[in-house]
Amino acid sequence: MKNPKVAIIGAGPAGITAGLALNKAGINVTVYERAEEITPLGGALILNAVGLTILRRLGVDVEDIYNGVHAEFRRWDGKVRARINVSEDLLAQANASGWQSGMMRKELYARMLDVVPDDLIVAGHKFERYEETADGIKIHFANGKVEHADVLVGSDGIRSLVRGQLFPDTPEPKKLGIAIWLGWCEADEIDVKQCVIQHDKNYQMGYCPLIFEGKKCFEWWLVEEYKGEKPPKDVPAYVRNLVGHFAAPTQEIMSRTDTDAHLFRWIVEYIPGLKQWSKGRVTIMGDAAHPTSPYAAYGAGMAIEDGYFLAKFLKEADLTDANSIKAALKRYEDLRRPYTNFTTKFARILGRVYHNVPGPLRSLRDYLLDNVKGTGRKIETGMTEDAEALLKMVLNEPF
Ligand SMILES: Cc1cc2nc3c(=O)[nH]c(=O)nc-3n(C[C@H](O)[C@H](O)[C@H](O)COP(=O)(O)OP(=O)(O)OC[C@H]3O[C@@H](n4cnc5c(N)ncnc54)[C@H](O)[C@@H]3O)c2cc1C
Repeated sequence: MKNPKVAIIGAGPAGITAGLALNKAGINVTVYERAEEITPLGGALILNAVGLTILRRLGVDVEDIYNGVHAEFRRWDGKVRARINVSEDLLAQANASGWQSGMMRKELYARMLDVVPDDLIVAGHKFERYEETADGIKIHFANGKVEHADVLVGSDGIRSLVRGQLFPDTPEPKKLGIAIWLGWCEADEIDVKQCVIQHDKNYQMGYCPLIFEGKKCFEWWLVEEYKGEKPPKDVPAYVRNLVGHFAAPTQEIMSRTDTDAHLFRWIVEYIPGLKQWSKGRVTIMGDAAHPTSPYAAYGAGMAIEDGYFLAKFLKEADLTDANSIKAALKRYEDLRRPYTNFTTKFARILGRVYHNVPGPLRSLRDYLLDNVKGTGRKIETGMTEDAEALLKMVLNEPF
């Protein structure tokens, strides 16, 4: 009897989640990672209650690091412009203390890897190309190895080689026109129960409380327009100078940061929403399918969701049958592509509205946000409506 196999390229959040979920479903699955060791990017990220629910379902213990809070968009002086409200009933059903939580990547990955069975992830395998044969896929790696699979999934990040072969016309990732300084610090005495996203006319300064190694910490970020500028010589002074007028505890959080070790810059890139993700036995997920701007604060979360739903639909398919595989990939794509295309587009637009429009339009934007009821509401609904529906789906349909 044939034991059909799913091969996943890339052990980021998408690949690990899909690997865990498929393994849990009893499907023969291997995740191939180019790095010799699985090491997450540094810094923090924000995960919402959908990600939390999926991770729990897969047995990942994030209870003590999910520090649930709500997000608020504020003016630089503290005036609230929009509040991300999610149904309390829904949160109670999900047993989530708030809609989103800051987390250190390192700790989240460690928790995920804790439940990864031996041999699920094979390191030191850089994907090069695949061949689709009459009865499966032949996968070629840079180390000379060749593996066979019935389904191939590219979760190999923004510069995905799987996507490159599947859809060669996809444009190369482009700079979005914004850059972010990201930092984190320990801050036991600062008591903040929101994820705060504050703007002045030109900059966004945000911070979110999180728990790391049992200690109260904050992640923070400064978003600015980017036109190819080199980083300034004295980065901490540069950043401090830009946010000196922002409401407390902005300065306190920044001054506690070990800027030599815990401050770095991310120049955001994107690709336009794709029209198709799957062909035959091959599909893509995570950043390979929809790299996102931080205005969605949600790239890792969407990668986790992709991995989960892909596994769910493959579990319900007959993986010995090419047509059944194709139908499962279509179900996955039909659910995920419109949602992630909307979210990434919305995030791109927010980024442009806040950082790339000319000065007079920025003043008009701020006038509308501060004086015209309903302007902030667009931010609120754009960020949660579909995500709430997704959480309901995850809660109501056991894996
Ligand atoms: C600085 C920064 C801050 C961020 N902050 C947040 C945040 O606050 N919240 C949030 O939700 N998201 C955040 N994101 C986005 C988030 O990190 C990504 O959206 C998420 O990691 C995507 O997961 P993924 O599994 O699709 O891809 P990745 O995490 O990029 O993983 C891809 C994996 O594939 C491997 N790989 C690549 N090519 C090959 C190959 N040829 N063969 C084999 N393996 C390969 C890579 O080594 C890597 O392990 C941030 C991103 C950055 C860069």
